[in-house]
Amino acid sequence: MDASFHRRKDKVVVIMGATGSGKSRLSIDLATLFPTSEIINSDKMQVYRGLDITTNKIPTAQRRGVPHHLLGDVDTDHYGEFSPADFRHHAADLIADITRRKNLPIVVGGSNSFVHALLVQNFDPHSHSNVFQQQQEEALISSELRYRCCFLWVDIAFPVLSQYLRDRVDDMLDSGMVDELAQFFDPDAARRTGFGIRKAIGVPEFDRFFNKYPPSMGQGGDDPLRERAYEEAVKAIKDNTCELAERQIGKIERLKRAGWDLRRIDATEAFRMVLTSGSSNGSGVWERQVLEPSVKIVKRFLME
Ligand code: ATP
Repeated sequence: MDASFHRRKDKVVVIMGATGSGKSRLSIDLATLFPTSEIINSDKMQVYRGLDITTNKIPTAQRRGVPHHLLGDVDTDHYGEFSPADFRHHAADLIADITRRKNLPIVVGGSNSFVHALLVQNFDPHSHSNVFQQQQEEALISSELRYRCCFLWVDIAFPVLSQYLRDRVDDMLDSGMVDELAQFFDPDAARRTGFGIRKAIGVPEFDRFFNKYPPSMGQGGDDPLRERAYEEAVKAIKDNTCELAERQIGKIERLKRAGWDLRRIDATEAFRMVLTSGSSNGSGVWERQVLEPSVKIVKRFLME
């Protein structure tokens, strides 16, 4: 019999949640407390190089020295689209390597199709694109996993999350998102085919704006039409981000119904605090409501 049959499956911590729900913060906090941790990004836009503000990649300074993998590594122009099958292949190699070095892999990101592709025992790239479609639910989501997984699902009441996400877009704009998108803008429509990183929320919305008001035109003074087009692009980004979050939560709920043992951590209070006082730092709410329960769950998992 194949020797691998008797081998225990590798352990993986998986942090799930909608965009903006604090997964990166939790992953760094956990990695600081479990210092052998290494993070594998599972956000399908953050795997690509570029657009760091637009795709919300965690800045290097906030990584606190924790190794990150598949974060900004893939060049769309050379590689093309990084598919769920690619993710399964590369992330599995990383998990094997991290485990061999006796470290702990933590998979973090909002792309549930990537997470599903990586974890299921039997992966079929052809049916995978339908895996989250309503009518296919029972048939295609598999609960047979090839790793021992500890799932943490950071959840936030949707009205609080959507307000937070709208505010976050304003913060991203203040941090230079429009300049980043302007540098990325390609006036050659034929090359703007909408694959890879070009699908990131912000790119199509601002491509429409830059088509009318190319970056080379400069700020354009007080032109009210330009102002309105800009506001429309910003509103579209906010709406699309909230829709993405809603879809992601729907997918997570389906995985749970399909038998994935997701441990839900409610981060609503910590986010409410950010909305009312600008930060949850210093209040201890994040530590009490999100970090401490997560640490307990991970500790127990590592002892099993
Ligand atoms: P799908 O089944 O739609 O592929 P998924 O779970 O595989 O969903 P998501 O992470 O939900 O993947 O991403 C779907 C789309 O949401 C992306 O194609 C992109 O337009 C947008 N998106 C996702 N993550 C980001 C991000 N970090 N920055 C900007 N846009 C993003």
